[in-house]
Amino acid sequence: MIVAIAKETFPGERRVALAPAHVPLLLKAGLEVLVERSAGQAAGYPDRQYSEKGAKIAANRAELSTADVILEVRAAGAHPQASAAQLDHLRSGQVVIAMCDPLGNPQPARDLADRGVTLFALELLPRITRAQSMDVLSSMATVAGYRAVLLGAEALPKMFPMLMTAAGTLTPAKVFIMGVGVAGLQAIATARRLGAVVSANDIRPAVKEQVESLGAKFVELQLHIEAAEDKGGYAKEMGEEFLQKQRELIARVVAESDVVITTAAVPGKKAPTLVTAEMVAGMAPGSVVVDLAAERGGNCELTEPGKTIDHNGVTILGPTNLPAEVPQHASQMYSKNITTFLLHLIEDGQVKLDLEDEIVRDTLITHGGGVVNARVCESLGIEPASPDPPKPPPAPEDAPTPKEESVENPDVYGFAKGDE
Ligand code: NAD
Repeated sequence: MIVAIAKETFPGERRVALAPAHVPLLLKAGLEVLVERSAGQAAGYPDRQYSEKGAKIAANRAELSTADVILEVRAAGAHPQASAAQLDHLRSGQVVIAMCDPLGNPQPARDLADRGVTLFALELLPRITRAQSMDVLSSMATVAGYRAVLLGAEALPKMFPMLMTAAGTLTPAKVFIMGVGVAGLQAIATARRLGAVVSANDIRPAVKEQVESLGAKFVELQLHIEAAEDKGGYAKEMGEEFLQKQRELIARVVAESDVVITTAAVPGKKAPTLVTAEMVAGMAPGSVVVDLAAERGGNCELTEPGKTIDHNGVTILGPTNLPAEVPQHASQMYSKNITTFLLHLIEDGQVKLDLEDEIVRDTLITHGGGVVNARVCESLGIEPASPDPPKPPPAPEDAPTPKEESVENPDVYGFAKGDE
């Protein structure tokens, strides 16, 4: 089976789906690895490094049509500018594994389904212990949280650490992190390492201890929060009345902060507005807001996705792809995640669809010419197609029982080249 690594085409994307270090893991599993020319160049991985590890180099995208599996960082919905020409390189029966924003932008999944492509969306991996080593969202959030602090530090006209010098004492920067998931925790750790005084806030009560263990202050909301998280550990969407009270309570902390980093998100929903224009007006000139939720509607009312704006002396950054700004480590982490996921799917050198396995079931978006994922179908307003192979017609009552050709294991649907 051939596994291909496509060169990313999304503007500004510098990551690559597979790092050279993970090529041997795939070869050991009996797979061949084909890398599109200069796919890893922007991440600091020249073709030579892939060849040295035993991969073949493909001259162009068209050559990847020989592959059974294509690994990408951004496919379909996560790459809205993908031209029809690019989609044309995909053929029926190919498996694509990538991030593809299947809930935010589900329509392109239909195009892939129409082409008979089997698509897996890594964003939909269940957040369970078994899938931790495949969790691309955690990996990319880690990189984004780190990078957000560096952007904030760079834009701030002050230094982060406290310094006592012959020229006087410089007070440390005050950094406030709103939303303490994976990105928020990494932002706290990074800002602390740079010497800032850090405080943080989240609506999930479990977070307080984690914040304090990193040496930051947890800003308590004197609000009754009932069931702020779902059983998956994610925040639930709060009503406007709650958000209004939350804004009133944190306005003072925002006003006193040099850098505010917002990472608050609710899966599948627009990001909550936590920082209003009025709150920004209360910040000192030179202060900075880094809004990591820019792509999902923004946590700050004034954020413009992909832009840096100056609002009465306050700088507001709305970065949309921070992991691509640290492409080598982001690719290394993504590569480990996607390799673990692919090897999880492989049995006897072929991709197997075990729909009893929630890792497979939750991430499978299209198969057999249809969109099969229930959550994506809900977003599209359509009924899920069945991923099962068509059943044989029922045998007449007096006919002999058919042989067990069917089902040694009725829950495992294997599909190899030409099975489709
Ligand atoms: P996320 O990106 O969906 O959200 C970021 C943070 O925003 C969350 O902490 C959320 O509580 C917070 N938030 C939402 N609304 C808010 C509001 N109004 N005010 C303040 N904060 C608000 O989350 P994420 O980083 O992807 O993960 C969240 C949690 O999921 C983790 O902290 C962890 O508990 C769990 N998780 C589990 C695993 C695993 O078990 N494998 C892996 C990753 C994450």
